[in-house]
Amino acid sequence: MDGISPSNNKFIDPVKFKNKDLTINGERRARVSLLELRTLWVNTGTLCNLTCKNCYIESSPLNDRLVYISKDEVKFFLDEILERQFSTKDIGFTGGEPFMNPDFIPTLQLTLSRGFRALILTNAMKPMQHQKNPLMKLKNKFGDQLRIRVSVDHYTKNLHESERGDGSWRSMLQGLIWLSINGFNFDVAGRTPWGEGEEMMRSNYGKFFSKYNIDIDHNDPARLVLFPEMDELLDTPEITERCWSILGVDPNDMMCANSRMIVKRKGADRPAVIACTLLPYDQQFELGETLFTSSKSVSLNHPHCSKFCVLGGGSCTKG
Ligand code: SF4
Ligand code: SF4
Repeated sequence: MDGISPSNNKFIDPVKFKNKDLTINGERRARVSLLELRTLWVNTGTLCNLTCKNCYIESSPLNDRLVYISKDEVKFFLDEILERQFSTKDIGFTGGEPFMNPDFIPTLQLTLSRGFRALILTNAMKPMQHQKNPLMKLKNKFGDQLRIRVSVDHYTKNLHESERGDGSWRSMLQGLIWLSINGFNFDVAGRTPWGEGEEMMRSNYGKFFSKYNIDIDHNDPARLVLFPEMDELLDTPEITERCWSILGVDPNDMMCANSRMIVKRKGADRPAVIACTLLPYDQQFELGETLFTSSKSVSLNHPHCSKFCVLGGGSCTKG
């Protein structure tokens, strides 16, 4: 996986991350309390038009482990936010490819008309481009309340397609240019497994944006978001309560301190609320069927908690 040669890989020690409360050394495992539900992520379903090599959620045209969520199912949670007067301002949509969900545009319309900001993680390919007309209407009505983040894994066709498959570059580029020409509030998410420093990556993304007149400031980390990589095979230490002060990391900076995600599992009657976007399949991070019941603290009992959040500094997801 991701730029690490197989000879360097060590598998996670199987005795770690077993006990929710204690680490292998008998120390109290770190937990994160929900400080404030700032962002509610909605997983629209894991089906995708692509099968990217390093998709963290293993999306593909066949993976429907998380099925399409409906507008009414999302409405239930938007209602709960308003009824309970949570301070949530942002609703993020991730997949799979959100625009493949047949209820996505009505869901987006509902979200925006309730006054939330919406962020969509997309590959900007045909599924998005098939919705140009409704997207333009939503943009004209709601302006910058609607934000679209496009995954461009690398600024060259070859490396982008080495992750995303043959033919993925041209369609992505058409979608990106369309968003830019039409004045959407949009940004680009890149990846960093290529052995290039951030400065070099930003500079070369900048040249790519200039070449195609993409209206993005490559030096603005909010417009060109470069995500650190996760490698599920590399070993990582367990995080204890003492680690926060030793590492100088604030638990309130973890995604699970200010976000939740709703998912609809295949065969389930209704959606479930989970701790974050990073662990969609691990049932121990499932926190109930309402946002209220999901307000409990989360035990950092997964290698991703250590590797990606506490030690790696990652804070978000990619589409
Ligand atoms: S990384 Fe994004 S575009 Fe690629 S398979 Fe996963 S969800 Fe689809
Ligand atoms: S992966 Fe990160 S955000 Fe998710 S529960 Fe673990 S620490 Fe929290």
